Amino acid sequence: MGSFRTRVVWIMILAAVILAFAAETRIDAFPFTTVFIKKPRRFYHRMNCVAVKSGRPTAISLANAKEQGYRPCPKCQPPTW
Ligand SMILES: [Zn+2]
Repeated sequence: MGSFRTRVVWIMILAAVILAFAAETRIDAFPFTTVFIKKPRRFYHRMNCVAVKSGRPTAISLANAKEQGYRPCPKCQPPTW
């Protein structure tokens, strides 16, 4: 016998793989958060920040903003990752 135990082990492995995949997908989704920049300032903002409401802010991805050296705005505190 022992086949029941083998099946339980396989189900647990499968569950672990699915959970790992789900976690990875969620982490990968975060860099695509959209933030707003307004030149010549080197900060990125949330859409509703007072600093970008006037004028024409540019929407870029969070990953892109960080890559270009933009810092999170201290006023609206946009996501950092
Ligand atoms: Zn801001």
